[in-house]
Amino acid sequence: MAGNRTFTMIKPDAVAAGNTGAITKMIEEAGFKIIAMKKTYMSKDRAGQFYEVHKERPFYNDLTTYMSSGPIIPMILEKENAVEDFRALIGATNPKEAAPGTIRALFAKSIEANAIHGSDSDDNAKIEGGFFFSHTEQF
Ligand code: UDP
Ligand code: MG
Repeated sequence: MAGNRTFTMIKPDAVAAGNTGAITKMIEEAGFKIIAMKKTYMSKDRAGQFYEVHKERPFYNDLTTYMSSGPIIPMILEKENAVEDFRALIGATNPKEAAPGTIRALFAKSIEANAIHGSDSDDNAKIEGGFFFSHTEQF
């Protein structure tokens, strides 16, 4: 059965562009409850750990530089079928392929600076949420 939590992070380009409020509004209007949220920062090493699965990919070095270039807003979200529904709300990785009206279609600048992260499985949602927040099971 699909889980009811996912993890997201508003990325540095969208925070810097002043789109935190607009994106958060879309998330809440789509029926997601914000369980945990903060404004923080990742060093290049921490960004490297977060994206460890991509470490052999050609974009890894640029990605970790970009992800440590400014503040981010990580959040844990709750909704029925959270992982799949949230991936639908954010759209494809490449904003040129993202469906109209999705967060990436509206706010992403490029395939790298694509405004927002969304976990791709229930297991990764737990791991990624735990990377930024502790004790959220009680919320
Ligand atoms: N990315 C990139 N170039 C690519 C593919 C991905 O810079 O060709 C970046 C982009 O920021 C993306 C992140 O790496 O969101 C993780 O890639 P993934 O394939 O997991 O995409 P996502 O799950 O975020 O849609
Ligand atoms: Mg991914």
